[in-house]
Amino acid sequence: MDFQLTEEHEMIRDMCRAFAQEVIAPRAEEMERTGDYPYDIMAQMAELGMMGIPISEAYGGSGGDWVGMHLCIEEISRGDPALGALLDVTTSVVAQELEIFGTEDQKKRWLVPIAKGEKIGAFGLTEPNSGSDAGSIRTTAVLDGDEWVINGTKQFITNIGLDNASLIIITAVTKKDPSARGRGRISTFIVPKDVPGFSLGKRYEKIGWHGSATHEVIFEDCRIPQDNLLGDTEKGFAQHLAVLQTGRISIAAMSVGLAQACLDESLKYAKQREQFGHVIGRFQSIQFKLADMAASVELARNQYLKAAWLKDRGKKHNFEATVAKLYASEMVERAASDAVQIHGGYGYMAEYPVSRYYKAAKVLQIVEGTSEIMRIILSRELGLE
Ligand SMILES: Cc1cc2nc3c(=O)[nH]c(=O)nc-3n(C[C@H](O)[C@H](O)[C@H](O)COP(=O)(O)OP(=O)(O)OC[C@H]3O[C@@H](n4cnc5c(N)ncnc54)[C@H](O)[C@@H]3O)c2cc1C
Repeated sequence: MDFQLTEEHEMIRDMCRAFAQEVIAPRAEEMERTGDYPYDIMAQMAELGMMGIPISEAYGGSGGDWVGMHLCIEEISRGDPALGALLDVTTSVVAQELEIFGTEDQKKRWLVPIAKGEKIGAFGLTEPNSGSDAGSIRTTAVLDGDEWVINGTKQFITNIGLDNASLIIITAVTKKDPSARGRGRISTFIVPKDVPGFSLGKRYEKIGWHGSATHEVIFEDCRIPQDNLLGDTEKGFAQHLAVLQTGRISIAAMSVGLAQACLDESLKYAKQREQFGHVIGRFQSIQFKLADMAASVELARNQYLKAAWLKDRGKKHNFEATVAKLYASEMVERAASDAVQIHGGYGYMAEYPVSRYYKAAKVLQIVEGTSEIMRIILSRELGLE
């Protein structure tokens, strides 16, 4: 076993850490307050090649790996998780899905600009009546001549509301076989934003993550060319679930980045704030909170790196990725709560970063599979039905 990061991994981590601390963190409070999307920061991230780390050079990426990508997601999320979410969706899910399942034409047309970060991708699985039960979607795609006609609504969609978002990969029912449930009944499509019948619905008002675009998407007799089917008509659901495994590693890396930020701020504060004639970091109750935080950040980091390492070697990693997502997302909620507690009343004030971290942490237990769904997957891995 070798726990040493390669020189390339260290370079990626250090570059992303410096970028997050120098460029993202100083803007995070403003992003949260105004809800403005940071296009200039995205352009710099693209320039530094962050969106294409694990994508092959032939398709606009850097030919790196998923360990490198997730070190990047961790560090960027330490600056602001809204930008970690951008990377998770556009690279870990959309770019990967295009690279694995796309035709040569689809990769040249859609993947290259996304891997270069010139365009941003989104994916749409969730619908008003279908969240965890992703196989129960109602959006339909019907072939009419040489075009698919799509009808339905997708909700809580990350990235699609950005001006530079080019497309959404959606799941839609293509076969009306009620006994088939998800598998075999659902296909996956590339829907560009500028096709007739596509419209953006409302922008959601969220508790946190204000720098991340979250919108509803509506398809009304939306027409796309037949060629925009991604993969085949039988395996759309399975292929989408397969890439979401990587999304789970990404959510774990985001959680670790945010928890590390909680630790950084709390440690700094504990060394400055004085009560009863001592800095509060002298009190054992504060020390133990910080010690627990450091221990759990370390464990969660090791777990997401293990899952990414297995993925890079083409080994099974469903169990490891699910453990990483479940553990890290629950860990960061505790870390954020303790970070506010360590800051006392100041921690509840908007000007202190930990109040923002507290609002940002909860959603990590919900996106890309809730904690309950993670426990169901793990139970199945244990042979329990
Ligand atoms: C900020 C944000 C961004 C998002 N971005 C995207 C995106 O880009 N693309 C996309 O497709 N979706 C996105 N989502 C949707 C997200 O993936 C879903 O919210 C999530 O999968 C849960 O679905 P739901 O909200 O419908 O909750 P439900 O599925 O309705 O769940 C409600 C509760 O019931 C529990 N539950 C459900 N089924 C079971 C069961 N069998 N056993 C035990 N408990 C169960 C859940 O764990 C949860 O606690 C986003 C959501 C948010 C909040």
